Amino acid sequence: MNFTKFPRRNYLQGNTPIEFMPALTQILGGDVNLYVKRDDLLPGSAGGNKTRKLEFCIADALERGADTIITCGAVQSNHARLTASWSAKESLECHLILEERVAGSYKEDGSGNNFLFELLGVKSIAVVEGGSDMMAQMETKAEKLSAAGKKPYIIPGGASNSIGSMGYAMCAEEIMGQLNEMRLDIDHIIVPSGSAGTHAGMVVGMRGVNSNIPVSGVNVSRTKDVQEEIVYKLGGEIAEKLNLMNGIARDDIVCFDQYVGPGYSLPTDSMIEAVKLFAKSEAILLDPVYSGKTAAGLIDLVRKGHFPKNSNVLFLHTGGSPALYAYMDTFRQK
Ligand SMILES: *Cc1c(COP(=O)(O)O)cnc(C)c1O
Repeated sequence: MNFTKFPRRNYLQGNTPIEFMPALTQILGGDVNLYVKRDDLLPGSAGGNKTRKLEFCIADALERGADTIITCGAVQSNHARLTASWSAKESLECHLILEERVAGSYKEDGSGNNFLFELLGVKSIAVVEGGSDMMAQMETKAEKLSAAGKKPYIIPGGASNSIGSMGYAMCAEEIMGQLNEMRLDIDHIIVPSGSAGTHAGMVVGMRGVNSNIPVSGVNVSRTKDVQEEIVYKLGGEIAEKLNLMNGIARDDIVCFDQYVGPGYSLPTDSMIEAVKLFAKSEAILLDPVYSGKTAAGLIDLVRKGHFPKNSNVLFLHTGGSPALYAYMDTFRQK
């Protein structure tokens, strides 16, 4: 794949590791070998998947002469934290619009990412009701900032447009390069499926390098049908931007929605078990909203015998551990 046409900053500083998880593999019966791609270790304060996307989005903003970034997210958004982080690094002003998907969940003196927004010097935080039109909110903010002489640039939620998602098509190429070097034959890749850029980018990228490795998404909010359509549509846009000859097929997109529980960001027993298991067996910190629920899906699929015996499965760890500190009570209760 050719990424050279797209503006890009140099945030990655090399590949993130791919590691075997021997203890977790044993605990889950030893029939399926579990590997992890450590995107939780990406640069940018506290790491995580949005760095790969922001490398493209912020480059686009700078190329357009922006001096101010506006983005949106949930109250514990890792995307908002990393946008604030890279904005600070690039001397760009950063404004956040936060969606209170769970009423009363935003606290000015809150912990986790909430606290880090402030520490990273965001210029303003506006909290809006769950279900608000976030793009309209950001456009209104942009108009106000423009009127005050600023040059704002809007990054959509999760940086999951075709510009940001390019970062995960590139990640697929990175993974395939590592697997070839390690001579590690991965049979299946499991990723979280939220604002969809990670999932869509990975599917397109794996097609783009002709890997034949299936990529399945674990949903964190939506139902299977709705999420698969969103991933498919975004995947088509990325494939077109990259001029991939055959694009992607609808069958390439597979989502599991049985690990969402009562809703986005709301704890489930299987998430709590997964977070504890990864911490105690592999010393890997997951998060309650994304990687914890995705790992819960991975664990359940292994236990159910979804993967054939002796399969090698790669879990894409997208980060998010700062959110753990906003959920301490959840983990201590059990
Ligand atoms: C945003 C996020 C995801 C989901 O990625 P999308 O590209 O939005 O689907 C997964 N894990 C973490 C930690 C995130 O912050």
